Amino acid sequence: MKKFYISTAIAYTSGKPHIGNTYEIVLADAIARYKRLSGYEVYFQTGTDEHGEKIELKAREAGVSPQEFVDNLSLEIKRIWDIMDTTYDKFVRTTDKNHEKVVQKIFKKLYDQGDIYKGEYKGWYCTPCESFWTETQLNDGLCPDCNRKVHQTSEEAYFFRMSKYQDKLIDYINKHPEFIQPEARKNEMINNFLRPGLQDLCVSRTSFKWGIPVSFDQDHVIYVWIDALSNYITNIGYDVDFQSEEFNKWWPADLHLVGKDIIRFHTIYWPIILMALDLPLPKQIFGHPWLLFGNDKMSKSKGNIIYADDLVDKYGVDAIRYYLLHEIPFSSDGSITEDLVVERINSDLANVLGNLVNRTISMVKKYFNGIIPEIGPIESVDLILKEDVRNLKQKVDLKMDNLKIGEALDEIFKVLRKCNKYIDDTMPWVLAKDNNSISRLGTVLYNLLDAIRVCAILLQPFMPSTSKKICTSLNIEDRSFASADKENDLNSGIILNDLEPLFMRISK
Ligand SMILES: [Zn+2]
Repeated sequence: MKKFYISTAIAYTSGKPHIGNTYEIVLADAIARYKRLSGYEVYFQTGTDEHGEKIELKAREAGVSPQEFVDNLSLEIKRIWDIMDTTYDKFVRTTDKNHEKVVQKIFKKLYDQGDIYKGEYKGWYCTPCESFWTETQLNDGLCPDCNRKVHQTSEEAYFFRMSKYQDKLIDYINKHPEFIQPEARKNEMINNFLRPGLQDLCVSRTSFKWGIPVSFDQDHVIYVWIDALSNYITNIGYDVDFQSEEFNKWWPADLHLVGKDIIRFHTIYWPIILMALDLPLPKQIFGHPWLLFGNDKMSKSKGNIIYADDLVDKYGVDAIRYYLLHEIPFSSDGSITEDLVVERINSDLANVLGNLVNRTISMVKKYFNGIIPEIGPIESVDLILKEDVRNLKQKVDLKMDNLKIGEALDEIFKVLRKCNKYIDDTMPWVLAKDNNSISRLGTVLYNLLDAIRVCAILLQPFMPSTSKKICTSLNIEDRSFASADKENDLNSGIILNDLEPLFMRISK
């Protein structure tokens, strides 16, 4: 069986994720479901990144221990992932004991082989916040957290010799054009970061305690890079001393999905860590764009944060999944406001999908007592619709293979719109008035039901519960993607089940 390992980045447990932070898990879920339906054995990993100074500070503010703080937030994040109806196989945490143990071993190995050395970290220190900042993190020369003055300071730290692997990585990226997606990001990584030369990366800190201690130097905790990035291997059985069967089965990952803001860490730091461990690199890293509020970045200070669970309470999970998957393009940012969500639900989900399925099923009930009719006389208008339906799976496959998820949905909705037009063209209510055209009416309704069947099967990765409602009503047993390539696969003479309500128009 073909295998597919897909991961999201692990979410930082510093606060509740907003709808933009929720996009990635939904995107990953759509791809994971699609691969399963296409016959792959899938391993889908997500989870939480739980260490670091920010969490230490936030826990102190909240008057709880860092462990309690991350326990709560990790649960909250998992709850939202579950609300979004996502089918991850494993939810990992960087505070898992096994992860911590293996990360310590990785750090030790890299130190022993000379990739990591002890040096001095120079930066800016904010005394009230007890925080180190790099030059670029400063806000007009002031502390980005409290806006106070900072002073230059240094601390002892461990560094990773990034430059040692830089040419090897450039070579790898050039030989594997599919490695970094979208392509514009690949050029950005090579031209802006790799070609000018990599600086050694600071991989430990002594300024805070909430992290995995360096096993041979307890004053230091391992900084985010080696801790967080290693989650992709520590949770599938990687160990420095041996390679487990599970690890050999799943590594290298097929796809790391990450936000465009952290693509550098995943396409430069992570591959170099893997090269140093003598492990193969993941096959592909996709840096997806962001979801903006209107044209702005969502942020607490702007007061424009939208949460996924609030939207799902109001509009249902499939409507929000559809919005996220359809509205965020492959490489440019998407936009969300509640008005836009309502518009999209009305135009696509209620008017096109809901309307088509409701109309078709109620006509079958009215004219054929709910029994799927036989195919009778065929006309040229049928052949055009059939042709569109016949090509649909191939079109969806092509879009999905190129991670053009929104465009895959567009292809399905194009066919749904054509079905609505087919109703207007064939006018079943006119055919129903004439006893001589009952068998022609049967053809029309059969064609509609069969087109809806194909669309419902193909909608499974994106809107799983909507698809299930339609498939249940139509008594579709084989819901595999392969069955979307079959024609006239509904059994005439079978009675339809009642359709659970799909989407209603929402008045603003
Ligand atoms: Zn400060």
